[in-house]
Amino acid sequence: MLQQAIRVLLIEDQEADYLLTRRMLSTVEGRVFDLEWARSYHAGLDAIQRRVHDVCLVDYELHDGTGLDLLKECVAIDYQSPLILLTGYSDYHIDMEAMQLGAADFLVKDHLTPSLLERAIRYAIEQSRTMHELRRQGEELRASELRFRSVVQSANDAIVLADDQGKIIFWNHGAERIFGYSEDEVLNAPLEVLMPPHYREAHRLGLQRLRSTGKAKLIGRTLEMEGLRKDGSEFPLELSLATWITAEGTFFTGILRDISDRRRADDLRRAKEEAEQATRAKSQFVAGISHELRTPLHAIIGFTSILLQNKSGNLNQRDTDLLQRVLINARDQLGLIDSILDLSKVEAGKLEMQTAVVRIDQIVHEIVEQFEVNLAGSAVKIHARMPVRIEPIQTDAARLKQVVINLVENALKFTEQGMVSIEVVVNPSNSKPIRIDVTDTGIGIPARQLKRIFEPFHRLERVQEGTPGGTGLGLSISRSICEMLGYDLTVKSEPGRGSTFSIVVDREANRLPIPA
Ligand code: ADP
Repeated sequence: MLQQAIRVLLIEDQEADYLLTRRMLSTVEGRVFDLEWARSYHAGLDAIQRRVHDVCLVDYELHDGTGLDLLKECVAIDYQSPLILLTGYSDYHIDMEAMQLGAADFLVKDHLTPSLLERAIRYAIEQSRTMHELRRQGEELRASELRFRSVVQSANDAIVLADDQGKIIFWNHGAERIFGYSEDEVLNAPLEVLMPPHYREAHRLGLQRLRSTGKAKLIGRTLEMEGLRKDGSEFPLELSLATWITAEGTFFTGILRDISDRRRADDLRRAKEEAEQATRAKSQFVAGISHELRTPLHAIIGFTSILLQNKSGNLNQRDTDLLQRVLINARDQLGLIDSILDLSKVEAGKLEMQTAVVRIDQIVHEIVEQFEVNLAGSAVKIHARMPVRIEPIQTDAARLKQVVINLVENALKFTEQGMVSIEVVVNPSNSKPIRIDVTDTGIGIPARQLKRIFEPFHRLERVQEGTPGGTGLGLSISRSICEMLGYDLTVKSEPGRGSTFSIVVDREANRLPIPA
């Protein structure tokens, strides 16, 4: 096999020594040397700076400088190839100094033989390669250490390293944030400081088992447990454990994640699911019961209506009065059942909306007409206030009407005299509806009760005493329907003067002042 020539630089001012060296190298078997001769210190320095040689042989005594000076120059320019110093005599001090300056070898010319020279060159090159490799590995190690640190320090999780005694040997910023200890406070501290007391015994036993058997239960697994912060508070965490073994023993890496938020979210989700499940069960129950109650009520209403026609003429005034009361009560009961059914549907999210393009003015007219008939001769009047032009909107007409009717019914129920008005407020610039206000001149509602009237079954006590009955469900259902339609239902009231309930169709526009 063709061997690659070893490039040798000889810095030597004696031609005889050059010739001798050349002869020696040429007799070495199995190796080819490519010898370059530099005749002076300065010529040698120039040649070195070209950095093309595998090895450099330098005479200690040159007429324009010493071999040691040259060695110093080589150190200064970080010359990588090995240097072998040659002298005419053996001098321990020069030898030592040369070694300290990084010379690969120190040879006495008179003792040189071809094989000695060849061996010295081979060893020097080999040693230099090993040094390079070590240096390269050292740099790689440093780079990988830097990479490790930057990854570990930027992690959100706590990353903690410990030795086989369970002592903390590394602590990242994440750990600092999660546990509240700075690196200085926990380095060399036992891992136990991070766990609530009831985990510590098991942890100690686990470490002991690992040391004696090399087996660990938790390694390679992810488990949930509690952590202990510096301030003494406990929190749920997820722990992943790994081990690594070096000549110095076994070490652990623990990655710990604070899962308080996740636990809270899980608890909330579970509670929500349970509540939804309960609501569904309740709705089913209510729907079933409503059906059972409705059938006999329809029969009662039907038969009472037939009896009231008094076709046989057998019924006297008292009988018909009583039957009339039966009829009114049965209808009230039916109304109550319908409301409860509506409420349970709203709660179960089962109230279906059917939207279409709807004209609000039409709805308002229909409602006013419907109530005007019953109000003939009463001390309360109803009227509508609407601009000439109202843009139609996309909504569920039946549901919107149900809400307005409920508000008007309430207004009439709690107003002895005066006026109930339905007003549609629009944006003057584009005629789009902003609000529908139902205003009355009735008894009003005390400020502290305003929020509560929207709760199911809530009725003001003073009202219950003498005024017409109700279920306390109307406003609660109305508000839920409004929410489903994307609207707000709000109220303003002044006891003794009256109330205004507003269905806010366009929240954004309602926040701005409406120009007159
Ligand atoms: P209901 O009218 O069937 O009792 P609602 O949920 O509709 O149930 O109303 C709840 C309570 O709010 C009423 O009982 C009443 O006390 C009060 N309320 C509602 N509307 C008015 C109003 N326009 N004026 C005064 N009080 C009202």
